[in-house]
Amino acid sequence: MNKEPVSRELFDEVMVPNYAPGSIIPVRGEGSRIWDQEGREFIDLQGGIAVTCLGHSHPGLVGALHDQAEKIWHLSNVMTNEPALRLAKTLCDLTFAERVFFANSGAEANEAAFKLARRYAWEHHGKEKNEIISFKNSFHGRTLFTVSVGGQPKYLEGFEPAPGGIHHAEFNDLESVKKLISKEKTCAIVVEPIQGEGGVMPGDQAFLQGLRDLCDENDALLVFDEVQSGVGRSGHFYAYQMYGVVPDILSSAKGLGGGFPVAAMLTTAKVAASLGVGTHGSTYGGNALACAVAQRVVDTVSQPEILKGVKARSDKLRKGMMDIGERYGVFTEVRGAGLLLGCVLTEKWQGKAKDFLNAGLEEGVMVLVAGANVIRLAPSLIIPEPDIELALERFEAAVKKLTA
Ligand SMILES: *Cc1c(COP(=O)(O)O)cnc(C)c1O
Repeated sequence: MNKEPVSRELFDEVMVPNYAPGSIIPVRGEGSRIWDQEGREFIDLQGGIAVTCLGHSHPGLVGALHDQAEKIWHLSNVMTNEPALRLAKTLCDLTFAERVFFANSGAEANEAAFKLARRYAWEHHGKEKNEIISFKNSFHGRTLFTVSVGGQPKYLEGFEPAPGGIHHAEFNDLESVKKLISKEKTCAIVVEPIQGEGGVMPGDQAFLQGLRDLCDENDALLVFDEVQSGVGRSGHFYAYQMYGVVPDILSSAKGLGGGFPVAAMLTTAKVAASLGVGTHGSTYGGNALACAVAQRVVDTVSQPEILKGVKARSDKLRKGMMDIGERYGVFTEVRGAGLLLGCVLTEKWQGKAKDFLNAGLEEGVMVLVAGANVIRLAPSLIIPEPDIELALERFEAAVKKLTA
């Protein structure tokens, strides 16, 4: 076994250089605290990018993983398994969904969603109806199809030719969608109800409802990418429930496994019928270990007191960040929903989001960025109140030094 000591420098020697990880290597986590190789402690407001929704080493999740590990890990889809069936039933009970497809990542759940939307239109309306409308600044994953549907052209650079039939409208601008949609050609509108990577930008109620209506008028499917906004993040189990706008297909990942890789695509029985036997698949999709952990996540997060707690924590964190923003003149607003918050930098600090992240690390608090102009926070949904207070103190110290 390789027990060699490792350091951050090793990253540059052995890893493909597509990431630029921070200078520390975390080795242990408990709740909303993380410790690095030197034993330095950090408050975690990153949450593994909206993934570790119940914090680190949650006893319920550790227990679920242990219990399932001693039963059966993996079967492939040649067989079904108990944890996958139970989880699918729970997700149907909690949502609009009647059918579930399991995958391993957000990109894969979206890939399934987009393929299903095309296949459904092909089956019901013919092969001309294959166009997808999505939005500028959106993010849907890094496979070639999902990155093409995503609205950030820089992520496609050098990887062309991209799949065709994809158009990008302006987020929160219904008129721009009307210009692109047609009954003959459009098979789906794909949208994040709250854009995450694109700067934590919530969709307007009237915009999302308008997309629903446009889909109905044009026989198109409405796909909500809730990979980031889902599983309690907004203070509702899924953000669509906050808006009261129901999609035909919903993708879920990130928080779903609380740190264990798992994803799901939810849909209705009628739409699901278009993915018949042999049309799509994934070896690991519905893996028993993943589904057992996700079951515990879903059972916990869907509790009304947990969701109510998200709102209380959100208010505290939002107010604390607003206060810091005002005292040091660094934020114009704090936007988002629940525990997905974006602090928008003032003109003077535009382009400097990463500096705030690094300054935070120096003071023992881990924050995220969303682009160069927004500080993003996506902590555990059960982060203890004292940890929020300490995180705010540390972040304020970081901002004070940065602005001095
Ligand atoms: C993170 C994210 C994805 C991609 O998920 P992966 O697990 O990285 O493939 C897709 N959509 C949204 C909205 C996301 O935030």
